[in-house]
Amino acid sequence: MINKVTTVNNWLKLAKNKLKEAQISSYSLDSELILCNILKVDRTTILAYPKRKLTKQNIFHANHFLKRRLQHEPLAYILGFKEFYGRNFKVNSSVLVPRPETEEIIEQLKNNLVNNNETLLDIGTGSGILAVTIAKEFQNKNIKAYASDISKDALVLAKDNAILHNANISFIKSNLLENIEQNILNEVTILIANLPYVNKNWIDQEKPNELHYEPQIALYSEKEGLELIEKLLNTTNKIPNLKYLILEADPEQFCKIEKIAQENNLKKMVQKNYTIVFKK
Ligand code: GLN
Repeated sequence: MINKVTTVNNWLKLAKNKLKEAQISSYSLDSELILCNILKVDRTTILAYPKRKLTKQNIFHANHFLKRRLQHEPLAYILGFKEFYGRNFKVNSSVLVPRPETEEIIEQLKNNLVNNNETLLDIGTGSGILAVTIAKEFQNKNIKAYASDISKDALVLAKDNAILHNANISFIKSNLLENIEQNILNEVTILIANLPYVNKNWIDQEKPNELHYEPQIALYSEKEGLELIEKLLNTTNKIPNLKYLILEADPEQFCKIEKIAQENNLKKMVQKNYTIVFKK
C-alpha cells in the first residue's frame, strides 16, 4: 500500500489522504493514533519529530492497521483499547466501542447522587467502562459495585478491565435482572444501564458503517429500540431500596421511556444529551 515512505510525516500524509477518500471524518487523528501505537509513543512525540525514519517493519504494521481502518473497522478494535473518562480500557469485538456520550452518566452521578455506602448495579456492562469508572471515581465513598452482562465474552473483558484499573467489582452473568439473586437486588440503591437501544431501521445496512463491526446484541433492540429498556423498567420493582436509575438512550426515545418509567413509579429528574435520570 504505502511502501516508498520513509518518515513519519510521509506516512501520515498518505494515510490521511486515503482515510479522507474513504470518508472517514477522523482521518487525521486516526492516522496519528495508528502510528503512535506502532511506534509506542504519544501524539506530541509523533508531531514533534515528523522526520523520524520508519523501519520496513513499522510501515508494514502501520499499513496493515490502515487497511483495516479503510474498511471502516472501528479504530478501538484495531488498537485494542479506547479511552473513557480519562482512562484506557481494553476493547474487542465482543463489546461495543465506548462512546464519549456515555461519560454523561458519570457526570450525572457526580451531581450529588452518590452518598457513602451506596450499592451500584451496572446492567449490560460490556467492557465494564461504567462500573470501573464509577468504582474509581467514587473510591472514597465506600461504595459497592456490581456489574452484569448477558455475554460471557463481554464479562471476560470487563473483568480484565477491572483488574487493569484495580477496581473492586462483582460480576454476574445475567439477562437484565433475571439471574441476579434477590439478596443482591435488595442491596442495590443505584441502577445504571447503557442497554442496546438502536432501532435497526435507523441504520442503512448497505452503507459502510462502523456499527457493522460491533456486536448486534449490544446495539439493537426490538420495539423501535425500546424492548430491553422497557423490560428493565418493568422489573425495577424487584429492587426495593432503589433510589436512582440512570439510562442511556436516544433523546427521541425519552418521551416513551418516561411514560414506562412513570408506570413503574419512577420520576424523571433530568435528561441531558443521551442520559436520562429517574428518582424512585
Ligand atoms: N449510541 C450508540 C450509537 O448510536 C449506541 C449505544 C447503545 O446501543 N447502547 O451508535
